Amino acid sequence: MRRVYLDHNASSPLRPEARAAMAEAPGGNPSSVHAEGRAARAAVERARAQVAALVPGMDVVFTSGGTEANTLALAPEWLGVEAADAELFVSAVEHPSVLAGGAFRDVTLLPVTAAGVVDLAAARAMLGAARGRVIVSLMAANNETGVIQPTRELAQLAQERGGLLHVDAVQIAGRMPMSDLGADMITVSAHKLGGPLGVGALLIRGGLHNPRPAQRGGGQERGLRAGTENVAAIAGFGAVVQRTPMMWREAVEAEIRAVAPDAVIFGEGAERLPNTVLFAVPGMQAETLVIALDLAGIAVSAGAACASGRIAQSHVLAAMGVAPALAAGALRVSAGWSTTAEDIARFGAVWSEIYRRWTLRRAA
Ligand code: PLP
Repeated sequence: MRRVYLDHNASSPLRPEARAAMAEAPGGNPSSVHAEGRAARAAVERARAQVAALVPGMDVVFTSGGTEANTLALAPEWLGVEAADAELFVSAVEHPSVLAGGAFRDVTLLPVTAAGVVDLAAARAMLGAARGRVIVSLMAANNETGVIQPTRELAQLAQERGGLLHVDAVQIAGRMPMSDLGADMITVSAHKLGGPLGVGALLIRGGLHNPRPAQRGGGQERGLRAGTENVAAIAGFGAVVQRTPMMWREAVEAEIRAVAPDAVIFGEGAERLPNTVLFAVPGMQAETLVIALDLAGIAVSAGAACASGRIAQSHVLAAMGVAPALAAGALRVSAGWSTTAEDIARFGAVWSEIYRRWTLRRAA
């Protein structure tokens, strides 16, 4: 049976361009002075220029992925002050690697509206009451709902107070333009856009400095992250980082609604990514749906992929005030570079059959 993969927000399949770039990547240590070393260095620097082209004026530090880039960004040292004089504010719907707070001991959560957008009035009041300098971390788009956040407004609020804005752009990179986020630091991850797993980057506004490295050692990556660069993965990342036009959200929503007029689409009132639909039908259980779709050859997920593989209660839907019973039915369909019209039609046909059987059982 041909599989239909609609879980690109968890991870996109490796694009052929990334596979080719990785296979062709030179061996050798990029810090060596001989020809092999210089070839490896050239591959790393070519990829750095490709990633840097995402947002002009920023330096690129390669990391092991989005999680490490988020952790590196969340440190009081970027503000040039003592930890006691700095505060971290993050939205309540951030990825766990941001909610964990990096080097900060305390994290203050900025609430979101029922549509899943950060509440600007509340953010203004909370940042206005901050005691010290601030780092604000706001994702460009949410991995569960696809809701796009007002990063420029938060950048202004943070910068008015001499603070910094970090943007986790993992779900937007390669899907929408990201040069106007207004951020001082930006996180990207290769595997969400068809690059290899285990490589990402922190983009840092020119002139920003952090004297405390994430890893000490040989001084690679501007001294911020020691360790011999993962040349093949970095080359694979560089090969796919250019923007990929993506669609399908409306087509997926049409398939869902055609059979289930009672479906609730989360974040519907807000601007959203063009590839993501998070929805629930009252009374349906996401866990059962994921299994039924999987057995029929379709990969989707129940909200965010949890490390344990289990389905946990979504902190994103809880922050949006969604009732736990409805949240338990939340199914995420996320398309990507490999998605075709045939995939969406197949999803629609299977979904329609699952829904038909469910309504028959319910009526019995
Ligand atoms: N931030 C967001 C919004 C994500 O969706 C993810 C992926 O799960 C990450 C960060 C973490 O990225 P990585 O898997 O590269 O560590």
